[in-house]
Amino acid sequence: RVLQEMINGEVITMGWKSPAVHQALDLCLSCKGCARDCPTGIDMASYKSQVIDHTYKGKIRPRSHYTLGWLPRWGRMITRNRALSAMINTTMATPGLRRVVRWTAGVDQRRALPRFATRAARDRVAVPAGGGRRVVLWVDSFSDCFTGEGVEAAVALLIQAGYAPEFLERNACCGLTWISTGQRDGARRQLENALDVLHPHVAAGTPVVGLEPSCLAVWRSDAAELLPEDPRVADLATGVLTMAELLSRTEGWQPPDLSGVELVAQPHCHHASVIGWQADADLLAASGATVTTVGGCCGLAGNFGAEKGHYDVSVLVAQHDLLPAVEARPDAVVLADGFSCRTQLAELAGRRAVTLAELLTR
Ligand code: SF4
Ligand code: SF4
Repeated sequence: RVLQEMINGEVITMGWKSPAVHQALDLCLSCKGCARDCPTGIDMASYKSQVIDHTYKGKIRPRSHYTLGWLPRWGRMITRNRALSAMINTTMATPGLRRVVRWTAGVDQRRALPRFATRAARDRVAVPAGGGRRVVLWVDSFSDCFTGEGVEAAVALLIQAGYAPEFLERNACCGLTWISTGQRDGARRQLENALDVLHPHVAAGTPVVGLEPSCLAVWRSDAAELLPEDPRVADLATGVLTMAELLSRTEGWQPPDLSGVELVAQPHCHHASVIGWQADADLLAASGATVTTVGGCCGLAGNFGAEKGHYDVSVLVAQHDLLPAVEARPDAVVLADGFSCRTQLAELAGRRAVTLAELLTR
């Protein structure tokens, strides 16, 4: 309603700059829950992105837009050089310096800082040559540049399922952090580059499997809004798959027997809202695991929960569903494919969550 009034210009008269508009949108996590639940499909995350974009066009932005909003760019730069990555990780682990890093980045002082990988996953992880059907493993910027075993496990799982995985020849970033910080021209540039890299594979009929749900969801939601004239977006919306979607279409593949395994599954909010989590739910049901599926967002939601001023709300959101679910099941395996969800779980619950590929290759 506040946006409607802004457009009408009678009650809200300052347009994009109106404090009422920013106050109303400030605590939106951009989880896209509304896009799923609203009967008319109102996507407040997209509106928030557009409002921020209009507000700061040609102006100096909050610091977090240059740090968290450009995180994939920084990640690529840092993980290219082992010494640089080690130095930055040491800096971020040193108490006094850590405070300065957080302040500079516009990050809340109570937040832990993630560790950069010493080498990008696409350089670090060996993909053995072998027979099998070709599949392209799209390693997003988060899976590529931060620590974690998700990429190793994904390669192993694909080989077990009879595929011959290969990485992309160069980086393809979906621009999600540019979208969520309202830098929509930058997001378009990232998307166009990613389309140039990904589309030839999709057009050739090679399945492309992604790891980070929020990056996958971009092809099925924001990309079409940002590049409405580009017909390649629709091809990627159907041609870039989640791991569960790919495996469910793989003839002869059966999940391992997980009878007796208790799982708490946290679907990433964009996975649940945009992609749909049914393929994952079916796969887990077929594995025989006992699954508790958490509803709602983890509360970190990309840059939202990291930004100064959002910490308390971020924790309150986590306390609504996710934290009670894992605290009630201290021995359960926690499944979370989203980088944000795993980060939030590690920070607030002290639990290391695994990706679907890690779970299926344990
Ligand atoms: S927090 Fe989520 S559900 Fe609420 S308005 Fe924002 S995107 Fe929609
Ligand atoms: S659910 Fe959708 S239609 Fe209903 S008030 Fe919210 S945005 Fe409007």
